[in-house]
Amino acid sequence: MISQNLQEIQDRIKQRALLIKRSPDEIQLIAVSKKISTPFIEEAVQCGQFYFGENYIQEAVEKKGKLGERIGLHMLGHLQSNKAKIAAQIFYMIQTVDSIKLASALARHLDSLGRTMKILVQVNIGNDPNKSGVMPEKTEELLQQIKSLDKIETLGLMTIPPVTPSPEEARPHFKALCHLAIDLSRKELFHDNRRIELSMGMSDDFEIAIEEGATMVRIGTAIFGQRP
Ligand SMILES: *Cc1c(COP(=O)(O)O)cnc(C)c1O
Repeated sequence: MISQNLQEIQDRIKQRALLIKRSPDEIQLIAVSKKISTPFIEEAVQCGQFYFGENYIQEAVEKKGKLGERIGLHMLGHLQSNKAKIAAQIFYMIQTVDSIKLASALARHLDSLGRTMKILVQVNIGNDPNKSGVMPEKTEELLQQIKSLDKIETLGLMTIPPVTPSPEEARPHFKALCHLAIDLSRKELFHDNRRIELSMGMSDDFEIAIEEGATMVRIGTAIFGQRP
């Protein structure tokens, strides 16, 4: 079941990329495994899936403990600064950095661990007061501040657009994130300004996100089924 779902998603990613003349290789699949138990994750690992997305620290710690180097974990949930130490130890990438307070806490712990961390800055592209993420107009300032921190590599931007009645209605939000990223890359605010990561698109709208430039799609339900 999981293997079939994974294969199907990989095929859809590839087809959509080719349809708009993008290379499928530039789109990474993050299998979102929050609330999914380890045996199911293991099944996906067996199919060659390496990157998984988690939203809760405690769950991520347990899964990393069980699966170790067989998985690379992306933090997709809101991260509090007081959890920065453990986050600095277990994640391959943190996609939800949205404050200088969090970034500074991470940098401090990374320094004592002697490692660097790849991050994405989460942007509240719909200006939704109930959502986390930095507001679009504040993103440049945050990237400027993070730039001065050693050990943190800002590879790009991530967003969770407002819930819309149809996937097509998410398109303007994806477009807006892409434009923002291009603008900020011209100001040389990313680690590699010629190759910016854009994490956008989930089970229902990832094909639209790919059309608008996504380099990472985060897919849970379409791989693992409805979460318990
Ligand atoms: C849960 C989650 C996903 C996956 O959503 P699905 O609709 O199950 O594909 C993607 N991104 C984030 C940030 C999430 O929290």
